[in-house]
Amino acid sequence: MRNSVRVGILLGFVWLSIASCQRNSVEPSANATPNTVAVQPISTPKPVETLKRPTFESDNAFKHLEKQCAFGPRYLGSEGHTKCLEFLIAEMKKYADKVILQESKYRGMTYTNVIGVFYPEGSKEPSKTPVLLLSHWDTRPIADGPNSAEAQKGFRYGAKGWNRLAPIPGANDGASGGAVLLELARILKSQPPKVGVVLALVDGEDYGDFRGNNGEGDGVFLGSRLLAAKLKDYPEIGQPTFGILLDMVGGKNLIFVKEENSHRFAPGTNEKVFGTAQSLGYGDTFRFDESQWVDDDHMPLNRAGIPTIDLIHPLPFAEFEQRGYVYWHTQQDLPEKCSAKSLKIVGETVAEVLYRETP
Ligand SMILES: [Zn+2]
Repeated sequence: MRNSVRVGILLGFVWLSIASCQRNSVEPSANATPNTVAVQPISTPKPVETLKRPTFESDNAFKHLEKQCAFGPRYLGSEGHTKCLEFLIAEMKKYADKVILQESKYRGMTYTNVIGVFYPEGSKEPSKTPVLLLSHWDTRPIADGPNSAEAQKGFRYGAKGWNRLAPIPGANDGASGGAVLLELARILKSQPPKVGVVLALVDGEDYGDFRGNNGEGDGVFLGSRLLAAKLKDYPEIGQPTFGILLDMVGGKNLIFVKEENSHRFAPGTNEKVFGTAQSLGYGDTFRFDESQWVDDDHMPLNRAGIPTIDLIHPLPFAEFEQRGYVYWHTQQDLPEKCSAKSLKIVGETVAEVLYRETP
């Protein structure tokens, strides 16, 4: 993890070390960048009147969410992980022009990125400069969120992994992003946009210790790091012009705020996506007047030179203690805490961005 974000809210904050502390102990320290910043104007893109594109069917997306959860917890090495991988590959093969599987190992366990490449409208070749959408599909093997009763018992990560497991169902944190990407895959096949698109279902985001390895993380962000490191080995993926990470996009009462790492590395993309959402009438969900720091799968891509933003329901800390996703890293992260309406807002927004984009 980067120093700049360590002082803020970390996506994979391991509750272990603060289990005996008060919850407000994780508020940003005095030298941290304030969570709330001045409102910045967004140049809202004008609606493109001639834009005709398929509708994002949120019922399809919600079924994909439920389907993934039905496999059980999907952390590395689990039975649910193996079954879910088969499902994701089969679904992606229905729609993508090309499917790439990237594999590597962590502590003897295989992790796999499932990548669908969609050619631009009228093309039989992949774009050299597609738009990248990504989402992690694995789930966390321990329930170490601030609202988890399990977390009070303490988790430790050592040479043999976690001292005990308390896997989360991962409806929002794991299944929701993939659910949106699979429904997007369907509409991309039915009507290719002008630009090429790469949909990357990345693995191993949430397995290990976010604070391990001197703060770099041990056994986390595995798939996104692999994707970023191997870009040049896969000409079909090209050099994406920008990326959008979807992580926890299905919770009820969904909000997104300005994620500060996204805005530091990809301000243009951040403004484009929030502006598009506002032009579709989703300004109550996409709120640019509040912010949070998050370290997540977008950071390996940003370090590799692909400006990538993170759309993530705020973590339940500080001023988002109530309005954030309170079931984050708990065993209550279930489909009933998610809604098709939230998936719709995200899916329509991202689809609109893709179909408005020109090469
Ligand atoms: Zn997580």
